[in-house]
This record gives sequence, structure tokens and C-alpha cells, in this order.
Amino acid sequence: MNAPAQPRRPIESGVPDPFPFMHPVMKKNYGNWDWHDRPRPGVLRHVARNGDMIWTVKAGTQRQMDVFSVRKLCEIADTFAEGYVRFTTRSNIEFMVSSQDKVEPLIEALTAAGFPVGGTGNSVSMISHTQGWLHCDIPGTDASGVVKSLMDMMYDEFIKEEMPNRVKITTSCCQINCGGQGDISINVQYTKPPKINHDLVSKICERPAVVARCPVAAIRPAMVNGKPSLEVDEQKCVCCGACYPPCPPMQINGADSTKIAVWVGGKHSNARSKPSFHKLVVANLPNNAPRWPEVAEVVRKILYAYKDNAKDWERMGEWIERIGWPRFFELTGFAFTKHHLDTWTGSRKTMNMSAHVHF
Ligand code: SF4
Ligand code: SF4
Repeated sequence: MNAPAQPRRPIESGVPDPFPFMHPVMKKNYGNWDWHDRPRPGVLRHVARNGDMIWTVKAGTQRQMDVFSVRKLCEIADTFAEGYVRFTTRSNIEFMVSSQDKVEPLIEALTAAGFPVGGTGNSVSMISHTQGWLHCDIPGTDASGVVKSLMDMMYDEFIKEEMPNRVKITTSCCQINCGGQGDISINVQYTKPPKINHDLVSKICERPAVVARCPVAAIRPAMVNGKPSLEVDEQKCVCCGACYPPCPPMQINGADSTKIAVWVGGKHSNARSKPSFHKLVVANLPNNAPRWPEVAEVVRKILYAYKDNAKDWERMGEWIERIGWPRFFELTGFAFTKHHLDTWTGSRKTMNMSAHVHF
């Protein structure tokens, strides 16, 4: 007799079970940790209810790592850290050890290999960044490269805890911004609608997919030179770049159209004040690889204006709300322009609010 038909099971591809990779002391005390402190920047000590302790040493990495760096980190973990590591969402690596006398040799080994120890408490933690040129199909700039340039400039603020509060910085390599909200955010900004390479559209693009992608319904099918192509209503286009991934002939990247903007005051947490969206401060910075010096200079000015003027425990956005935006622009020396005013009232009319695409 045939076995009864089984329903098709979903394929789970979420995070793997962490327990097989967990340090034994963490496994033993799962759910039973009592308190923790930070004996020095970059080190956390957790104490369990039964008195067990574990030390976590956090080090910065370049995130997109070559095999030699990965091997080096594994070698350090095996030699100095009982063989257990984990990565944080901000691309830091954390080593766990169960006795205090292993902490200093581990820090020395990491520092000697070029991995700075820090990123805890009121420091500038590692910048959370998107995929950049290596992985994503639409970036207008790199992510790791920008991060490396900025973290070189802020190295001291990573290894010390001398900021008024923690500083979370994000970067995003296209205007869709999978980088998220940050105290300081560095985001690509497209300044012009895409130019269409009509010869390629019919060969490469699925036109319905491109039309459906546009958040403001600015793309229409059109016949150009007798071939099926597309056209863009430039009055509606908000230059978001969403049409470029399904249709690379919608060419939006270029030296004169791909710029970088810096935003401030975003916050995810509910601590002390509500979560907030970041707001534009400087636009139109050149996309100047490989070191992005203009972006680094803007970030440096914002960071040190905050460090020198905020009260203890104020996050960037809270500090600006207290002193007011005119004072913030005065302290940082940036110009306040008409581009800072959000006057767009057309969203109700132009938003692509229908689930139906008429093609
Ligand atoms: S920010 Fe944009 S280009 Fe960069 S990884 Fe995210 S979706 Fe891709
Ligand atoms: S998807 Fe974005 S960039 Fe492309 S036409 Fe629409 S608004 Fe413009």
C-alpha cells in the first residue's frame, strides 16, 4: 500500500539553531544571567545567578572579509579564546572566555593583528552598512569602502567610550536605503531621473516588472523606434533608483547624478525619547571613491559638534531637538538651503496605491 500523501513542508531558511555553536558557559546559564558590566571599552562581563562569569571581547572587522582574515580570526579564537565567536549585526566579532586572565592576552593578540577592540557603551560603534559593489545589483556607491574611510577617521572614538551616548552610524549604497536609521546616516542620493537606453530595454527588461517597481507610477510602456520600450514621466519621478535593478537600461548612475547625502538624528530605541527618523543635513556630496574625503569631513564636523556640546546621555537627535536646528547648523557650519524644506504635497495623488498594474 502506498504511504499516505504528506503535506508539503515549508523549507525553513532562517537563522540556524545557535546552541551547537554556543560557548558552554552560555549554554549552561541560558536564561539565568543576573547582571553585567563593562570592565573596559570593548569588554563585557556577564555574571550568572549561580556565580558563573563570562567575558566577551568585541573587535571591529572589515565585514566583507577575505579568507586570510577569517583564518586569522579563527586562529585567535582557538589560541586565545576557547574557540567560540559570534558576529554582531554591525560586523563586529565577539570572543567569549570563561576566565578573566584570558582577556588581556586576547586583546593583545587582536590588536597586534589589526582588529581594534572597542565598540561598546558610549563609543562610535562599527558603522552598519549595506552590500555595496560586491553583492547588491543596484548600488550607486560602495558600502565597505565608505565605512573603512570613516572608521579610520573615527578609530579613537571606537576604542574609547567618550561620547555623550552611543553613536550609531549607518551607510546605504542606494537611495532605497536598506541601511536603516542612524544618529548619522550616509545615503546615496540620485539627483536626476533615469536615462533610458531604448536599444536594450526590449532585450533585457521585463517591462511589467519595471512599471510595477515604480513607487510613484512614473513609468509607462512606450514604442520607441518601432520597438517596445518605456518612458518616464519626469514630473513624477522621485529619482529613487528602484527601476534600475529589474531593468539596468534605466540608467540612473553617473558622476553627475549619483551623489551622497548625510542625515542625522535617527533612532530606533524607545530609551528616554521616542524613536525618530533621521533628517537631511548635507546633500550633493561627490561620490568620491576610494576614500570619500568630503563625506568624512562632514561626518567629522557633526560628530565633534555633538561630542563637544551635547549633555551626558543625550543621543544626537535629542541634542538637536534641545538646542534647535538653527543652532545645529550654526555649530556645524553647514548651510541651510531650500532643499532642507519638505514641501512635497503630491503624495496622495502620485503614490502608486493600486495593487493592479494596467499594462
Ligand atoms: S542600500 Fe540599496 S544598493 Fe545597497 S545593498 Fe541595500 S538595496 Fe542594495
Ligand atoms: S522607480 Fe524611481 S527612479 Fe525609476 S522612474 Fe520611478 S521614481 Fe523614478
